[in-house]
Amino acid sequence: MTLRPSGSPDEVRGTVKAWQAEGLTVGFVPTMGALHEGHLSLIRASVGECDRTVLSIYVNPTQFGRGEDLKRYPRRLEQDCRAAEQNGVDLVFCPTNEVMYPAGSTTYVSQDSLIDVLEGASRPGHFRGVLTVVCKLLSIVPADRAYFGQKDFQQTVVVGRMVKDLSLPVSVRVVPTVRDADGLALSSRNDHLDQQERHQASCLHRALTKALQLYRDGERNPLTVRAAMQGIIEAASLVRTDYIEIVDCETLEPVKEITDRAVVVLAVRIGQTRLIDNMPLVGTDPKTDEVDDT
Ligand code: AMP
Repeated sequence: MTLRPSGSPDEVRGTVKAWQAEGLTVGFVPTMGALHEGHLSLIRASVGECDRTVLSIYVNPTQFGRGEDLKRYPRRLEQDCRAAEQNGVDLVFCPTNEVMYPAGSTTYVSQDSLIDVLEGASRPGHFRGVLTVVCKLLSIVPADRAYFGQKDFQQTVVVGRMVKDLSLPVSVRVVPTVRDADGLALSSRNDHLDQQERHQASCLHRALTKALQLYRDGERNPLTVRAAMQGIIEAASLVRTDYIEIVDCETLEPVKEITDRAVVVLAVRIGQTRLIDNMPLVGTDPKTDEVDDT
């Protein structure tokens, strides 16, 4: 039998608290659904570390800007519930907009500085939407650990900051990016790429790998690394750079000299589709990194 999703905050919070009262640890994986192997790796990390795993599926309207892809965002609840069950999820929370944003709702969670750069600069209001929904989800699902993908690097930073600043009683876990064979980070937005666009999209990972290789070879000048990455992206005729930055892993400020605190981040547009990716320079290839605390 497929897991039956619950839309009731009281039911979900009650179940989580009952598990914890029995001494069980609870992991939480927030998603917007249309599950792929990237999401499943978060679920598997939670199932591996926690006694119970809660998955939420909610396409959060407040994190989409005007003209963004909210309407065409894929929704496949039944298929997602099957995949969740097969991968060990115990409870699926699938709230409505009315539950998440009750009539008259006027409270938001925001942040200074961290949310206005990179993705925040390209997508004004995006992180206010993300922080508000994650804070509310964590209030409904009072889990011991919450799992986020390295793929959305800035999201892991702003959520980690919120958890610290608001003393939320949850441990944030970051799971390495899952990639296709050619290195493209899995994303539901990849489905919008046509064959030629999909082919050229591999330049993101090639540019990031180039940055890693230059760093390993001793290059410490961010301008040199950026220029090499830009060359790779520009060679792909359908790809337009939104930004390429090398930033500090906590402050998100551009670094003057590259160290292993740096993360290389980039965003591009390919046709109608906007893709992001990143490469932390901490030590080794992130494919071999273990799950980390932030
Ligand atoms: P989304 O449904 O896009 O909001 O993503 C839900 C969670 O899955 C977020 O924490 C994402 O960072 C994570 N995620 C998405 N794609 C990947 C991927 N390719 N590898 C690892 N985590 C991912």
